[in-house]
Amino acid sequence: MWKGVEHAFNPVGGLHHAHPDRASGFCIFNDPALCIAYLKKKYGLKKIMYLDIDAHHGDGVMYGFYSDPSVLDIDFHEDGRYLFPGTGFTNEIGEGEGRGYKVNIPVPPFTYDEPYLNAFREVVPKLTRAYEPEIVLMQCGADSHANDLLAHLDLTTHAYGEIVSTIHRLSHEVCDGRLVVLGGGGYNLGNAVRCWTVAFNELAEARPAEEIPKEWLDLYRNLGEGEPPRFLHDKPEPRKRDEEMLKHIAGIVADLQKRIPMLSKT
Ligand SMILES: [Zn+2]
Ligand SMILES: [Zn+2]
Repeated sequence: MWKGVEHAFNPVGGLHHAHPDRASGFCIFNDPALCIAYLKKKYGLKKIMYLDIDAHHGDGVMYGFYSDPSVLDIDFHEDGRYLFPGTGFTNEIGEGEGRGYKVNIPVPPFTYDEPYLNAFREVVPKLTRAYEPEIVLMQCGADSHANDLLAHLDLTTHAYGEIVSTIHRLSHEVCDGRLVVLGGGGYNLGNAVRCWTVAFNELAEARPAEEIPKEWLDLYRNLGEGEPPRFLHDKPEPRKRDEEMLKHIAGIVADLQKRIPMLSKT
């Protein structure tokens, strides 16, 4: 199937809201769902893992395979009570044979790196190792980054780096590195391109200079988007720990550990 290629990266993919019978949320065709359906039909895959970190819940993918245990869907997103499409709660765990294979982590507005990564570290490696997928698809929406124009999360490029490097490592551990990373939302141009550059570098194991090349800065200015960012990564800034948020997100993880057998403590 791969002929020497381990990882693929398509930053213009990840249109996770489209449904079989209708377009939705800037998405006409749901490329991750079509990719999953194609992998099942053409290659007969039985265990496909889909990880979605876009700020918006990947409703088209989740409901498209809601009763299908051959798709493990793990979706981190801003709580649907505050953001489109208003779905993706912890009690949505799949139905019929698909029960226990849909995992939603709805985080509150303004969630920042520490509580988000606490949940990611508790949930993702454990599920990946328990499920042992044949391939991993990741929707790497950049709108979970701080200062996005459509969402309210507060992640930095460092969180994107850790997330992609973790899933990269896990893909080598469980499925010979078969990993497809897709883009998704991202409505602050300077942040979206930095998140996706960080993601690509993790897959390519490249370490480019922190300073963004002058040619790119000129290109950005010509687009009329204002002053471009000068560095690839966000500057680490000390921030006060939000104990209430840390507790809230630990509670989401505890809730999932009760609902999802692959995550259960016992
Ligand atoms: Zn989005
Ligand atoms: Zn690799």
